[in-house]
Amino acid sequence: MSQPRVIIVGGGFGGLAAAKALARTQAQILLIDRTNHHLFQPLLYQVATSVLTPSQIATPIRSVLRNHKNTTVILGEVTGVNKDEKCVIFSDADRQNVPISYDYLVLGTGATHSYFGHNEFAEHAPGLKSLADAEAARNKILRAFELAEAEEDPSRHRDLLTFVLVGAGPTGVEMAGALALFVRTTLKSDFRRIDPASARVVLVDMAPRVLPPFSENLSKAAKRRLEKLGVEVRLGHSVDQIDGDGIVVAGERIASKTVIWTAGVAPSPAGKWLNVETDRAGRVRIQKDLTVPGHPEIFVVGDTASLDQNGKPLPGVAQVAMQQGRYAGKLIHGRIVGSPPPGPFSYFDKGTMAVVGKGFAVLQSGRVQISGLAAWLTWAAVHLQFLATSSLRLSVFLQWVWTYVTGQRGDRLIVNHHASDASKPAANLATQAALTGK
Ligand SMILES: Cc1cc2nc3c(=O)[nH]c(=O)nc-3n(C[C@H](O)[C@H](O)[C@H](O)COP(=O)(O)OP(=O)(O)OC[C@H]3O[C@@H](n4cnc5c(N)ncnc54)[C@H](O)[C@@H]3O)c2cc1C
Repeated sequence: MSQPRVIIVGGGFGGLAAAKALARTQAQILLIDRTNHHLFQPLLYQVATSVLTPSQIATPIRSVLRNHKNTTVILGEVTGVNKDEKCVIFSDADRQNVPISYDYLVLGTGATHSYFGHNEFAEHAPGLKSLADAEAARNKILRAFELAEAEEDPSRHRDLLTFVLVGAGPTGVEMAGALALFVRTTLKSDFRRIDPASARVVLVDMAPRVLPPFSENLSKAAKRRLEKLGVEVRLGHSVDQIDGDGIVVAGERIASKTVIWTAGVAPSPAGKWLNVETDRAGRVRIQKDLTVPGHPEIFVVGDTASLDQNGKPLPGVAQVAMQQGRYAGKLIHGRIVGSPPPGPFSYFDKGTMAVVGKGFAVLQSGRVQISGLAAWLTWAAVHLQFLATSSLRLSVFLQWVWTYVTGQRGDRLIVNHHASDASKPAANLATQAALTGK
């Protein structure tokens, strides 16, 4: 008799946890992802701010699963699901819309940016979701300093050296803190015409406080810390406009050539593929066993799923995705071997953390609320523990120690420097003037 086939779409936190739970199952496991790597998104901001290199926060999925003899990893994009025929629709570089059949399906396709209906912002305010996004943000930040150094007219320095982050959730706060440190420490002696420490880092959010998921006390502590690092925090107003010259917030224009979107997320289109009920954000409403109503063979996990616990929706965080992926994998294993079904899924909240610059973090876990060095050490230990391989853990640990002690960062290269950037008139004139001394 042929073995049942389990298709897992997405090699993120949820999909990978499901694959690991199925490691010893007598089944054919196909894990499909449109990238070849598992990405540790919580450290993306460290790539964007030059602390870590892309290869320190991502690992090839097939290398993580190399000892899983029942698992085949496929690089390609799923564009739909046919629930009645039990197949996913798959495309890769050679083939388009190929149906691949499954007995069990796990969808862990994550989320993408949401510009809250203002998709026109995307052109000038790229988000931070993939390695390519983090590299693009890093290029943009580093290039701003290069352009300012080459620019003879000091009146243009201020716009070039103003960095705006839209969204004061954990990503925006962590990125603002890291950027403020970068300009005031790492870059301090590297330039001759400009003073990198004069750079402005502005963090904007419509919410009345930073880090809304945290308690008010921790939120205040994080804001104080950001301000101590020199970050301007503007709260309580949504951004009205983002264009090539900066942003407009509460009627005021903040001129900037580097705006980064660290605000909302939208789920993958899994709800549309399945044509099932979704929540207001578009996440698939799943049952307590993580399956889609009427389809006990289809599981949806992580950021693209919506499940309430104690009357509140579970948050879009890595822990939820991992615990759900593990639960779905175990449940499928149980069905294949014929064991009785487990109880309903229950999320165990191990706590939430956000780091603000060097040696300071906020941590909230149940009634425990701490901020400062102890929270930062916990943050560092937890993040190291959840990196995909031991080599990454060692390499990131050493880089952090080095950066902590010397202030120097790992990766300050501008890569993929497009000709179009160099050909912009302002950049060209400034570079010419710098080279000729005129
Ligand atoms: C910048 C940032 C910082 C964060 N910081 C934290 C933090 O500090 N702590 C925390 O707990 N959480 C954090 N999160 C959230 C956390 O990363 C997510 O909750 C988690 O990644 C969700 O896991 P997932 O498996 O649902 O999706 P993901 O990890 O996003 O994985 C989805 C996978 O599906 C693949 N995929 C998507 N669509 C398709 C398709 N159509 N076909 C094939 N493959 C597809 C993607 O390539 C990806 O590999 C952060 C997120 C971001 C973006």
